[in-house]
Amino acid sequence: MQTHEIVRRFTDHFVKAGHTPVPSASLILDDPNLLFVNAGMVQFKPYFLGQAPAPYPRATSIQKCVRTGDIDEVGKTTRHNTFFQMAGNFSFGDYFKAGAIEHAWNLVTGDLASGGFGFDPDRIWVTVYETDDEAIALWKRIAGLPEERIQRRDGKDNYWDMGVPGPGGPCSEIYYDRGPEFGRDGGPVVDEDRYLEIWNLVFMQDERGELSPKLGHPPIGTLPSKNIDTGMGVERVAYLLQGVANVYETDLVRPVIARAEDFSGRRYGASAEDDTRFRVIADHARSGVMIIGDGVTPSNEGRGYVLRRLLRRIVRSARLLGITEPVLKAFAEVVRDEMSPTYPELTTDFERISAVVEAEEEAFRATLSSGTRIFDTAVADTRSSGALVLPGDKAFQLHDTYGFPIDLTLEMAAEQGLSVDQDRFTALMQEQRSRAKADAAKHKVGHGDGTIYRAVLDTHGTTDFLGYTELVAEGTVV
Ligand code: ATP
Ligand code: MG
Ligand code: MG
Ligand code: MG
Repeated sequence: MQTHEIVRRFTDHFVKAGHTPVPSASLILDDPNLLFVNAGMVQFKPYFLGQAPAPYPRATSIQKCVRTGDIDEVGKTTRHNTFFQMAGNFSFGDYFKAGAIEHAWNLVTGDLASGGFGFDPDRIWVTVYETDDEAIALWKRIAGLPEERIQRRDGKDNYWDMGVPGPGGPCSEIYYDRGPEFGRDGGPVVDEDRYLEIWNLVFMQDERGELSPKLGHPPIGTLPSKNIDTGMGVERVAYLLQGVANVYETDLVRPVIARAEDFSGRRYGASAEDDTRFRVIADHARSGVMIIGDGVTPSNEGRGYVLRRLLRRIVRSARLLGITEPVLKAFAEVVRDEMSPTYPELTTDFERISAVVEAEEEAFRATLSSGTRIFDTAVADTRSSGALVLPGDKAFQLHDTYGFPIDLTLEMAAEQGLSVDQDRFTALMQEQRSRAKADAAKHKVGHGDGTIYRAVLDTHGTTDFLGYTELVAEGTVV
């Protein structure tokens, strides 16, 4: 079943059940806590909080999502994209747990001939929040699930919130058992690769404060009404229904891999290392184009930095596949062709999009060729001194003089079996920032639009990139 058919069935199912179809919001919403929209509920947040009356009691959407916090998983797990589409149904004080479970169950296990996805009910497992006996009883009654395929999990996995004060609630997740050849028995609490999470039902009822109930802190209050917020991963359902091995081989993503095969003369499926590179290229090409489509351009902070990192990882992966010519425009064309039936602006705006990727690729190619020489010398020096840690001063020089983002240095060093003295690098970055601040104060230069993101980088440091992407993953920068 093609991706567009999955989306159509999802929307039809919920429109028939009285939901108003609402278009995807942009990836960029005017929310200071969010770098990118990372869930379908984001555009509905004021309705959950009671800050604005919901214009409809029930809604359904297919939301563009970006989770750069998943970037290190891309190509390695079967299921993580940086860009994906989240199909959702929402109830604003209308139906609650029973309705959410019934709607999801009917669609997931409904006959192919009558508009469902046709999953074998005997392969479905669910998880519930550890104390949610009500949800357990409903799964038994509505879906007829046996006790052993309903697993309890604590807040870390089965309490959902945005990572910042706002709406939240216990959740219940639906998993599909891919079979014993894909991993260990025992359900999702044992193996999340064999048991693939396809859908999360959030029982949105609480208001969380500074501290998250995920970690056992009590919510600070209850929402004005009991609501439903769900998210189903379209690419994940596609990969199961298309009988392919992962989200990167689904109909809308795989064509980028094919293009990369043409360029490189190498075949996907021939080597595990190359396959990861092909998948990274396919994933990042899509997220890169979608992010540019929503108006972001590469820069050294905030959203622009995330975009820059994605585009540069494509170029590097292509190099590692032996490709020496420019590739980004060609990959962007494939993404446009696959995605424009749903997002026609990718076609009308393509001149701008391709200009952005071409300029970034050119800049990065120049950076790479000069910086790589310095990097190689530094690696050789480090090795010959018998050390396994690349000096922080070198990482700083690569950053400062050659424009190497620290994560690039970290990745390249790791490929050489070296780590990097990040403490020293951070110290040098901080010195430089203090100098820049003193300078700016002298010249009365104000911050531009990026103030908040700049503040984040200042607080957390550009060096602590993992910490930074995790913040992005949670959809929050504070
Ligand atoms: P996982 O545990 O696999 O990382 P999650 O629990 O973080 O997923 P949710 O926040 O519950 O995901 O999001 C709702 C749904 O969106 C998931 O059930 C999944 O189907 C889909 N989804 C989440 N993250 C991704 C991703 N990086 N790529 C593709 N689909 C995703
Ligand atoms: Mg996740
Ligand atoms: Mg999960
Ligand atoms: Mg989940």
